[in-house]
Formats: sequence, C-alpha cells, structure tokens
Amino acid sequence: MWIDAHVHLQDERLAGKLNEYADLAKRAGVTCLCSAGTSPSDWERLVSLTETFPIRILPSFGVHPWDAVGLLGDWQEKLENFLSRFPESPIGEIGLDGLRDVPEEIQLRFFRAQLALAVRLRRPVVLHGARSWGRLYEELRPCAGQLPGIMLHAFSASPDLAERFLALGAVFSFGGLLCNENATRCREAATRLPLDRIVIETDSPDCFPNGGIPFPGEGDNSKLNHSANLIKVATALSTLRDISLEEIARATRETTLRFFGMPV
Ligand SMILES: [Zn+2]
Repeated sequence: MWIDAHVHLQDERLAGKLNEYADLAKRAGVTCLCSAGTSPSDWERLVSLTETFPIRILPSFGVHPWDAVGLLGDWQEKLENFLSRFPESPIGEIGLDGLRDVPEEIQLRFFRAQLALAVRLRRPVVLHGARSWGRLYEELRPCAGQLPGIMLHAFSASPDLAERFLALGAVFSFGGLLCNENATRCREAATRLPLDRIVIETDSPDCFPNGGIPFPGEGDNSKLNHSANLIKVATALSTLRDISLEEIARATRETTLRFFGMPV
C-alpha cells in the first residue's frame, strides 16, 4: 500500500511500457500514483490515463519551468479548464529551476502567474526548485498562507532552508537522491524533518535510484525509472530514521492523501 507522490506517467518515454509499468508497480504494492502535468501538450494525455490506467492516478496540472519557453497564447485559460474538470487537483509541476538555461524573466512570469491562480482557486501547489530553492522560498513566502498545501518535489535544499519551508507549512517529497550516500543535505533533511511532513516519490521516468531495478529487458544503461523503485526510496528513509517500512508506508500515504484533500 504505497503511494508514489510524484511521477510523470504521461511522459512519452513510457508510452510503450505502461503495461509493464503497471505490473511492476502492482507487484511492489504501489496502489496510487500522483502524476504531474508539465505543459498544455501533456495534460489531455494525463487525463486519459486517469481513465484507463489500472492503478489509481491523482493528477495535477501546471507548466513546468522547462516547458515555459516559447509557450504563448491561451495556456492559462486551458489550465483553468483542466482545473475545473478536476476540482481536487493541485497546480503543478510549477516552480523555478537552476539546472537548465531557462531565462529568469520567463521562469518568474510563469511561476508568479500560476501561484496567483493557486491562491485565487484555493489549490495546493506541487513545486520544482532544483538548484533554486532559495529563490523559490522568496517567491513563495508572501502567498504561502493563502495556499491550502505546498509540496516540494525532489527536495534537496539545506537543513536551514528546510526549517524555513517547514514554517510555511510545506510537505517535503524525497526521491531517488535519498539512495545516494553522498547526498548528505537531502539525507539530513529526510532524517530531521517531522515524519508527518514527508512523502516519497520516484519522479519516474527520471531520477533512477542507485540500486534501482530497470524495466525487464532494458539494459542497465537505460535508467528509465518506474514506481516499483519507490521501495528503494522507502528503504533508504527507513534506514535513515530507524523506523519500519510499514510505518513509512502508513505515514507517507496519509500525508500524500491529506495533501490531495482525500480521506485518509
Ligand atoms: Zn517532476
């Protein structure tokens, strides 16, 4: 009974592998996937998967900073349409990014517009802050009190910043990086934060963890990630905190459902 709190099931790299994906995830005991839309071009595909995929999907909709470049026209109107079709869905994946060369001005324009929309529609937000956690905090702080939920996906900032996000009411999502013994900041935050503010994710098809299981028939080089590898992340968290896998499953499931406004 695991929930994978952040995936991109609609990613085209997984298109030919969804049956295997579902089998692997079911066998690992994953019963729910939170799949984050990233651009107007993947929202409809995400919706159709919520209807056909054999594992429950909780979708969210947003424009990822990587997908903001060159996006013109009525994207915000489209986003509002998807959100009205899914009255429980968060806005995400949105945020700020320091991994790729996306102009700051574009990142800020999209992030601020979507934060304002989340405040207006009273929706939780699923946030991306890779190598931008400090800037993300500054943008988030003025409106955090007006948001019903904040999830920090693939969290990897300093313990000091973790404390400040904690004070804003954020939930912290940890992924494959937790399985890397050199990722000391991420592992320290996962050890010290309150357990009821932690969820776990694979970010599949990305973020293949150390020691992860590849898709059957794929060479070790393909590194295409799937939700059965959530157990690797859970095991790392269980070791760091010295609590059982059962307790990790229960706590992370409840926190994820609460974030999505679902009955626990
Ligand atoms: Zn993501």
